[in-house]
Amino acid sequence: MTANFSFECIASCQETKARAGVFQTPHGIVETPRFMPVGTLANVKTITPAQLQDTGAQMVLSNTYHLHLQPGEDIVAGGGGLHKFMGWHGPMLTDSGGFQVFSLSEMRKITEEGVTFRSPHDGQIINLTPERSIAIQNTLGADVIMAFDECPPYPATRQEVEAATSRTYRWLERCITAHQRPDQALFGIVQGGVYLDLRAKAAEDLKQLDLPGYAIGGVSVGEPPELIAQIVATTAPLLPFDKPRYLMGVGTYREMAVAIASGVDLFDCVIPTRWARHGTAMVQGERWNLKNAKFREDFAPLDETCPCYTCQNFSRAYISHLVRSQEILAYTLLSIHNITELIRFTQKIRNAIIKGTFAQDFAHWLEPSTESSDED
Ligand SMILES: [Zn+2]
Repeated sequence: MTANFSFECIASCQETKARAGVFQTPHGIVETPRFMPVGTLANVKTITPAQLQDTGAQMVLSNTYHLHLQPGEDIVAGGGGLHKFMGWHGPMLTDSGGFQVFSLSEMRKITEEGVTFRSPHDGQIINLTPERSIAIQNTLGADVIMAFDECPPYPATRQEVEAATSRTYRWLERCITAHQRPDQALFGIVQGGVYLDLRAKAAEDLKQLDLPGYAIGGVSVGEPPELIAQIVATTAPLLPFDKPRYLMGVGTYREMAVAIASGVDLFDCVIPTRWARHGTAMVQGERWNLKNAKFREDFAPLDETCPCYTCQNFSRAYISHLVRSQEILAYTLLSIHNITELIRFTQKIRNAIIKGTFAQDFAHWLEPSTESSDED
């Protein structure tokens, strides 16, 4: 593995493919399975790095596409690199920008060379290629960087997905050649849409490249949760056992539990902070809208069992008041709680894997859901 990186599996579940591990990076360890909060523009919205650390966050994600547009990677490098610039000294990961280019930008044109799109910022035409994405990520300086991939939409025809998947592989080879920094680990991304045989082939092909880590991408783009579970169950076990596995853009309780049972280690999702800004708390698997009248005079904490700053110091009534008044502190307090909640969920799973009780203790999360997805 690349210098300064290692992954060790310390316990495996007997009944499922779940494992507990330790991922070592130049900025510290990540105990897996673990949820990673998203700091899109080199900040996790409304909370400070000190507050972020108190949530139990170990690795934080930031978005290459957004940072390239604003403030630009040279400013980040001028500020000492991503960690120093944003004041977060733990492990970090940047995505490649591919997902945002494919999902957010208009007027994009995909060729073998890369993607051309119009900046939503100032209308300027931008070319993003595998080489450019890696150069930007080398300049930003996160511990883990991601290969530039083509994420096909859902639904897409088999032919379209096949073309995107083989292009993603050719782009990955170019990313490997372009990558300059041995203190950064480059992860490859398995694509293949909802076509399980394409996913399996992509996983086998990527495995041959002996990368320091692997991601499953192109999920949670509109397909039903049971399809995501199938994709992950097919793909994750084919990836090398001794490398970290990261499921991109997934962070609901059930989807994380099911993916962990298939052998996934890392997750990221904007849900905890996005919901916080909508006045929603995540409490033991449920979603609570703090604007609801029943919280007006409810002086209990959000969750009595939660060790977070919000639950230790404030009542549901107070947070409800802040949400109704649109006070910024509401979003800070809810973000602190929601991030803590999802990290605790993955920590509880980790502890159960180590104790050998995961399949039992989390059985209700592993059964197929009868309700609609807990995702927005
Ligand atoms: Zn809390």
